Amino acid sequence: MGAGASGLMLASLLKSNNVCLIDSNAKVGAKIKVSGGAKCNITNKKVTANNYLGDNVFVSSVLKEFSNDDLINFLKKQNLDFKLNEKIVKGTFFCNTSQDVIDMFLKLIKSKRVFLNTQVCNIEFDNFYKIKTNNQIIEAKKVVIASGGLSYQSLGASSIAFDIAKKFKHKVNPLNPALVGFTVQKEQFWFKNLSGISMFVKVNVENKSFEGNILFAHKGITGPVILNSSLYWKKGKMSIDFLPNKTFKSFLKGNKNISSSFNLPKRFMQEFLASIELDDKPISKLNKEELKKLEILKNYEFAPAGNFGYTKAEVTKGGVEVDEIDVKTMESKIQKNMYFIGEALDVTGELGGFNFQFAFSSAYVCAKELNRCV
Ligand SMILES: Cc1cc2nc3c(=O)[nH]c(=O)nc-3n(C[C@H](O)[C@H](O)[C@H](O)COP(=O)(O)OP(=O)(O)OC[C@H]3O[C@@H](n4cnc5c(N)ncnc54)[C@H](O)[C@@H]3O)c2cc1C
Repeated sequence: MGAGASGLMLASLLKSNNVCLIDSNAKVGAKIKVSGGAKCNITNKKVTANNYLGDNVFVSSVLKEFSNDDLINFLKKQNLDFKLNEKIVKGTFFCNTSQDVIDMFLKLIKSKRVFLNTQVCNIEFDNFYKIKTNNQIIEAKKVVIASGGLSYQSLGASSIAFDIAKKFKHKVNPLNPALVGFTVQKEQFWFKNLSGISMFVKVNVENKSFEGNILFAHKGITGPVILNSSLYWKKGKMSIDFLPNKTFKSFLKGNKNISSSFNLPKRFMQEFLASIELDDKPISKLNKEELKKLEILKNYEFAPAGNFGYTKAEVTKGGVEVDEIDVKTMESKIQKNMYFIGEALDVTGELGGFNFQFAFSSAYVCAKELNRCV
């Protein structure tokens, strides 16, 4: 169930036509359609388990079965046009339009049955599965849960994967919005005055660091570097280096005012100086204490208040515990003939095509097993 990224890949790879896809949306691939600014960032040039929050061994094993190179070959075989575009994130492959990806899948699944506008409400098991939907009860020998996470309810997201997992005694690890912007605490309200400004920065969060653009917004901060940080942020402090790859000292030459000395947007410098209560004056006139205050530009520590929530989050972190999933088949180790793939699992990728890659890789592993069983 689920005609999103992983469900479509699974259905495309299944040899048997004795399968059906069930989705609550009126069309398949709703998230694919809006992904990557409608150009679908489908994978990345370099994909390793380190690009994911989740069990390293499990992720490595799944990616090994169907790597980014395997995906690229698969897409080429289907004549899908895509290119490397590194404007925002390193190594990202984008399609001409995300509709091309959906059309590719529609072609591949044309002999499979698809139930659209069909909301799964519950699943029961009594020798076989009874999938209860808003329209009918569908019976099946095997069921694959490919219904994703909680992000973007407007695109069909629901908690059904986690409800079913819990019902069948699976552990579901805490769920949280990820690849999402941060709201800020009172001390950082000055960020809000910079709405619309974008800057290249380095962020350190937990034991990870990311370089990229931060975008100051009405509600707080967003942009690629912040979305990636949200994946690893654990509610504590993080820090921003506003002068990445440069030393603080290298800016202290000359006699210009502080606000003109750092090659940073003037509006940013004015707000920053106000926040640290330092007057704008010639950099050569600063005493030791003032320089120390200013050096925070290299390591601005703060704790976000929260995030923009599931309506804005590209993904959901947390999910079905992978220890209870057979990595070679994606089958539940608790409930026979029940499989979990894609974002429903407790594996979440960074920004850059990693989430589609995992959705497709896990679908491949599952398809391989289901094809073997036929
Ligand atoms: C705005 C946005 C942009 C994104 N851009 C990218 C990108 O460029 N690159 C990238 O790698 N990742 C991107 N992602 C993340 C990526 O879309 C997901 O990680 C990926 O689609 C997960 O695949 P999935 O098959 O697990 O779930 P989904 O693709 O979400 O599919 C799940 C399907 O299950 C259906 N469903 C849910 N509940 C029910 C129910 N109760 N009954 C029936 N059907 C149900 C949903 O309608 C949906 O069609 C983006 C996400 C968003 C929100």
